[in-house]
Amino acid sequence: MRIIVTGGAGFIGSALVRYLVLERNYEVLNIDLLTYAGNLSSLDALSDKKNYQFLQASICDRAAMESAVNEFKPDRIMHLAAESHVDRSITGAADFIQTNIVGTFTLLEAARGYWEGQEGAARENFRFLHVSTDEVYGSLGADDLFKETTAYDPSSPYSASKASSDHLAISWHRTYGLPVIISNCSNNYGPYHYPEKLIPLTILNALFEKSLPIYGKGDNVRDWLYVDDHVNALDMIVERGRPGEAYNVGGRNERANIDVVRQICQELDKLRPQSFRYETLIEFVTDRPGHDARYAIDATKLETELGWRARETFDSGILKTVQWYLDNKWWWEPLLQKYSGHRLGLIPEKPETE
Ligand code: NAD
Repeated sequence: MRIIVTGGAGFIGSALVRYLVLERNYEVLNIDLLTYAGNLSSLDALSDKKNYQFLQASICDRAAMESAVNEFKPDRIMHLAAESHVDRSITGAADFIQTNIVGTFTLLEAARGYWEGQEGAARENFRFLHVSTDEVYGSLGADDLFKETTAYDPSSPYSASKASSDHLAISWHRTYGLPVIISNCSNNYGPYHYPEKLIPLTILNALFEKSLPIYGKGDNVRDWLYVDDHVNALDMIVERGRPGEAYNVGGRNERANIDVVRQICQELDKLRPQSFRYETLIEFVTDRPGHDARYAIDATKLETELGWRARETFDSGILKTVQWYLDNKWWWEPLLQKYSGHRLGLIPEKPETE
């Protein structure tokens, strides 16, 4: 099996590439531009693997994508490359429009050109998995769940760019017949997560005894999924999902942000005790503009059609994650030179210019 993964130096992409190379023994080509979020040290475990190749290129580069796809001749493309941080999309949306929309278009066209040249089983079995987010659905009230049929209603420049790319991907199936599948997943967490996101940011700020900022009242609810459970779902969806369909992925682990931060503090109180309790570092700060109140996934389709189940509960996954950050300073310490935990995502006084 030959697989192209885009964004394989990022958080979820690197977990996926490690799994495909080490556990599945597939031939993998990882295409990643290595933006601030891409980190090859997340792939150190693959340095001597003959079934792994890396190409530094942008998914917006049409010629590079066409030659990569035509030369590697993949059975599957799993597309994860994206600008992924909501706060950064508020401060400057241009890269989100370029990579998430134009880049997805460019990759779809490269995939289509290659696929149309295939015959027989190669054409029949080819799959393009577009990896997306539950944020495309907007915000929920107290009781609903996102289903695959929920109308798109994105709130942030990030989620709007992902919604656009989902529409492009599915239209390439309906119009050209390209065997595209979409996955829409809830918030991920786990090892190798860039320290701008809530969970790793909280762990590292706590270790440095810095304040733990909580947006608004901390009552925004997210449905957390351990990254390896997402990887397992992606593997099942690309293998057995139906082209033209979307699959929601979520672990039924809803938590308010304040409870996530408190739980991390409690784990650190046990694993790295101090004279103070970590919770005393919590500080409530100005809310994120357009902050969605609640996300929660109904994963029934994935569970019944493909037999997927999340293996980690939030309790087991968060303990593993905190322990991993304690044990792997070598991975996160260099990143603090680039990002020291400062606040992102407040609306700039002057909009960015091209
Ligand atoms: P990430 O920001 O950690 O990684 C993104 C990767 O894409 C980086 O390695 C970066 O270098 C690469 N990249 C960015 N622009 C590129 C370009 N123009 N060309 C090639 N590579 C480029 O993101 P992540 O959290 O691993 O998310 C991966 C995918 O999963 C994204 O599409 C995201 O929308 C989706 N997703 C993420 C979550 C989550 O909770 N993190 C949840 C659901 C879906």
